[in-house]
Amino acid sequence: MATGVEVRTVAEQRLPGGVPLWVHPEWASRFPWLAQGTTGSGGGDAPFDLGLSGAQPVGAALDRWRALLAATEMHAVAHARQVHAADIWIHREAGPPGILVMDGFDGHVTDRPCLLLSVGVADCVPVSVVDPETRAVALVHAGWRGTAAGIVERAIHRLVESWQATPERLWLHCGPAICGACYEVGPEVHAAIHPDRPIPSTNTPIDVRAGIAERALGMGLPAEHVSVSTHCTRCGESDFFSHRAGSKARQMGVLGIRDALS
Ligand SMILES: [Zn+2]
Repeated sequence: MATGVEVRTVAEQRLPGGVPLWVHPEWASRFPWLAQGTTGSGGGDAPFDLGLSGAQPVGAALDRWRALLAATEMHAVAHARQVHAADIWIHREAGPPGILVMDGFDGHVTDRPCLLLSVGVADCVPVSVVDPETRAVALVHAGWRGTAAGIVERAIHRLVESWQATPERLWLHCGPAICGACYEVGPEVHAAIHPDRPIPSTNTPIDVRAGIAERALGMGLPAEHVSVSTHCTRCGESDFFSHRAGSKARQMGVLGIRDALS
């Protein structure tokens, strides 16, 4: 990684139970009022595929979504068909119980309890941003295009504009995604993520999560509030789906506010 920025790494841990949900252990103790994490492939004969736009029967996928709702103790989940852009929807109401499927958004923001935000990923980065003071949260899908389009900065801006958050009090985590060794891409991706750096002339690996972390630090988030998952979706014995490894399945980054008890 050609950067002087030291980014803290965190290994999500799988919760016990039938739903393969991998949570940020420090956030679990620091923010017990959060439902958070990323689902995994789950292993076994029936992968925990939550994809709604692939070839799998939608009924099987919806059963897994309901299991995810039950496991996180949320009433509703919001999801959108993503377009690798930077539009963010603000959920000002928790909405009816069940599964909301929207079109055309790569990011979500809410301060409503019991609404689970979700973004579909399989190499792209699920990025969570938390304001502990107002308990407003943002979750975005950031591939290289969304990152270059500034979706992470926009999520931070939303929390600053609508909840008067200061960047110094926000926390940000980049979940399981393809790592900086596995993601070999062309010069156009390097130019998009690091426009201020020399652009390689041939296909070269890039660490998108490091690029996101740098953007967060550039926005004024403290380094100790920014973390990056150690999990790669592609290399090793991955517990996650990887598009580059040939999977058409999708895991979900999820983020929500529990009922106001904790
Ligand atoms: Zn890797």
